[in-house]
Amino acid sequence: MSEKGKELYEHVQQKIEALKDKDSEYAKFAEIWRLACLGKYRSYDLRYLYEDTSREYIEKYKPAIIEAKEKFVENIDEYVEKCINVMEKTNKFKVYYAKTNEEAQEAFMKELGDAKIIYKSKSLEAKDIGIMDVLKENNIEIKETDLGDVLCQLFEYEYPSFTLAPGVQFSEEEIVAKIKEKYGVELEPDPEKIVQFYRENYRPELLNDVKISLTSANAISAHDGTIFLLENEGNISLLTRAVDKHIVVAGISKIVPDEYDAFMVGKIQERITNVDAGYISVITAPSGTSDIRGTRVFGMYGAKEVVVILVDDWRTKAAKEDLFYKDMLKCISCKSCDFVCTASRAFGNVYASKYGIGGLNIVRDYIHNGIEEAVKDGLFLCTGCSNCTNWCPSGVDLAEMMKNLKKIATEKGLCPPSLKKYQEKILGGKNPFK
Ligand code: SF4
Ligand code: SF4
Repeated sequence: MSEKGKELYEHVQQKIEALKDKDSEYAKFAEIWRLACLGKYRSYDLRYLYEDTSREYIEKYKPAIIEAKEKFVENIDEYVEKCINVMEKTNKFKVYYAKTNEEAQEAFMKELGDAKIIYKSKSLEAKDIGIMDVLKENNIEIKETDLGDVLCQLFEYEYPSFTLAPGVQFSEEEIVAKIKEKYGVELEPDPEKIVQFYRENYRPELLNDVKISLTSANAISAHDGTIFLLENEGNISLLTRAVDKHIVVAGISKIVPDEYDAFMVGKIQERITNVDAGYISVITAPSGTSDIRGTRVFGMYGAKEVVVILVDDWRTKAAKEDLFYKDMLKCISCKSCDFVCTASRAFGNVYASKYGIGGLNIVRDYIHNGIEEAVKDGLFLCTGCSNCTNWCPSGVDLAEMMKNLKKIATEKGLCPPSLKKYQEKILGGKNPFK
């Protein structure tokens, strides 16, 4: 094992040790995460929301989702071009096709102009490509709007979390204590009261003060350029309507052949998480009216401008060169692979990268930052169980990608000593138990 390998191994070991201390941030997260996984997993087969179970629903539509995603991957250039054309010419969006992260950052800063504050809702892509870092370097205030993210900001929480419920690790008592410390307001430790506090205090700001907002997209139709966004809180509805400029930052892999596929991606995401997405925004143009003598004017009550930054980065290369992480292009970010992951359940946010928990975010770290970072994220904690692959609704073979990463790491001398011993036993005596 190389010196670097030892250093990375010790880093992971330290986090595992911290997990054993029940008061550590890792242990607190792991405890709630295990419960969340169990709940999600069991709810797959319950009939409490609709007449069909989530598993039945997903099995029914899975072939169509796989087909749509594969069509996109096989014809990536054609779909990207078609989508950009229709978004610019018909939908009147301003579109940037960013080949690299730097190009995307540049486009974003140009659109931001002299604004000193941006309101956002979950844009994983913006984090992936470093837009968040650039904003911080330029002292631009980033205001989260999804309650979980708002809580993470309130606590200045720096640990990896679960993207769909990033504040799940904070108890009601901790939240009200923090609100008192920060705002001097005393609240009962009751979720209803906490939500009411934000509704009364933050909602007016979102309705009246937001000039520029940032969101991602759940899916984009290549056929008519429509952007689909799902949510349950209503913050995305405000951020896409009550603003002057709405900026969408999304990877080109959010593109699907048509609007029916895009809608299906959204519904599958909703059923997988068993959270009813109360709102689906279907955005096909900036706000406008032709009510005065048929003259089309943009910026009636909603966003005057919709800017779309489509990021390629690694994607076209992965599709064309058949790279081992090409399957990432089929991912619809439903998070099913997190709930069923044995390593994630055992190690919580120790098995995670700076992009979030779970194997998918470790692959993401590898793509952006290389194999050493993936090892540091706990790559070798992956058991190879393949639960992720078996549960994925869009045919992503995450287990195979993890296997490939382990191979790359081992070739670079980054395999942990305990596994190395197994390898020697298997290669030498053909018996791992002796
Ligand atoms: S890899 Fe599959 S299961 Fe995991 S988030 Fe993506 S689509 Fe969902
Ligand atoms: S193969 Fe690895 S990433 Fe996939 S579910 Fe199992 S432990 Fe998790």
